[in-house]
Amino acid sequence: MENGKTMQEDDCQCPECARRAEEHVESETFGLAVLIALMPIMTLTLFGHIGLL
Ligand SMILES: [Zn+2]
Repeated sequence: MENGKTMQEDDCQCPECARRAEEHVESETFGLAVLIALMPIMTLTLFGHIGLL
C-alpha cells in the first residue's frame, strides 16, 4: 500500500484544500441566496395560478 492518502480532506491545511473548501461554502451560500430570492416570485406565481391575486 503506497497510497496512504484518505479521501478525508477536512483535516488538510494546505492552501489548495482551504481554497476548495471556501469555494464550496461560497457556492452553497450563493445557491441559498438564489433560492431565497426566488421564493417571493414562486409564491406570487403560485398564488396567481390559484387565483388568489
Ligand atoms: Zn490538502
